[in-house]
Amino acid sequence: MKKVTILLPAYNEEASFPVLEQCMKRVLEENPGYEWEFLMVNDGSTDHTLQQMARLHREDAEHWNYIDLSRNYGKELAMMAGFDYVKGDALIIMDFDMQHPVDVIPEMLHWWEEGYDDVYATRQGSKESWMKRKTSQWYYNLLQMFTRVPIQKDTGDFRLLDRSCIDALKQMREVERNTKGMYSWIGFRKKGIFYQQQERQAGVSKWSYRALLNLALNGIMSYTTAPLRMASVLGLVVSLCAFLYLIYIIIVTNLYGDPVAGYPTIMVTMLFLGGAQLICIGVIGEYLARVFNESKRRPGYFVSSYNGERGRVEELKS
Ligand code: UDP
Ligand code: MG
Repeated sequence: MKKVTILLPAYNEEASFPVLEQCMKRVLEENPGYEWEFLMVNDGSTDHTLQQMARLHREDAEHWNYIDLSRNYGKELAMMAGFDYVKGDALIIMDFDMQHPVDVIPEMLHWWEEGYDDVYATRQGSKESWMKRKTSQWYYNLLQMFTRVPIQKDTGDFRLLDRSCIDALKQMREVERNTKGMYSWIGFRKKGIFYQQQERQAGVSKWSYRALLNLALNGIMSYTTAPLRMASVLGLVVSLCAFLYLIYIIIVTNLYGDPVAGYPTIMVTMLFLGGAQLICIGVIGEYLARVFNESKRRPGYFVSSYNGERGRVEELKS
């Protein structure tokens, strides 16, 4: 029988457990043709999430496994940890708050059996605020402008990945991660399906606008070097304008003499050039910071324990 893992990253999700358990029970009942593993990743929660995970593993060790990370690393790295410990032939990534409905799992499995390696679920009729929807839409359009690799709109981490995709993703060890970009980058046979996003059942959202901005910037910077190119183009355009202006000044001075005014023009040019330079340096700095972080070659995460075991955690990797 094929084994399928559901990966569930969690940060302070103790309130979500009743709903989660119900949903996973449904998965077991409705998909008896597969062996199931529910792999939870505790991303440094400060509430009783870890104790709840330990309880589930105690009650049903056949299905529930959990990784306890050494601190809060963020969802991207929590998923990276998950990829390393997945036992299944396929992996379905879901949010712990069950905003991703389990009803679409049979459809995902169907397309996987048809030979697709990455069955991604696209949000339909999102219940997020207008602001959040619009900003994410602009962001996707911006990102797509920069790259040849097609990016799926309104699509997050909710998807089924075949073992071949998991093995590919496991080799991508960068720490400044944007996993959404990686799914596209690795290629393989992709199939899109639709789902209705659910309301969060319990607990609160962990994403502040600051964290989202960070993720968005990371998405662009870790995915494309287009901003560096834009900095060069901006420099070129500014130099060209300056050159044309120079010719204009020479001609005008020769024709009408030099009345020694020009303070406003000098100020404007200086401020404009200064601003353009600062922007370009900032862009280079952003990339340099990423090179700096990656060049330390630190592991993305540390694991405190796997299923409560503290030693030989490394050996338990798939
Ligand atoms: N999450 C995580 N680490 C974090 C923040 C969030 O593992 O630092 C998990 C969280 O437990 C949930 C998923 O990422 O399973 C999505 O988070 P959330 O539901 O808060 O985000 P939203 O749905 O509001 O975008
Ligand atoms: Mg959520």
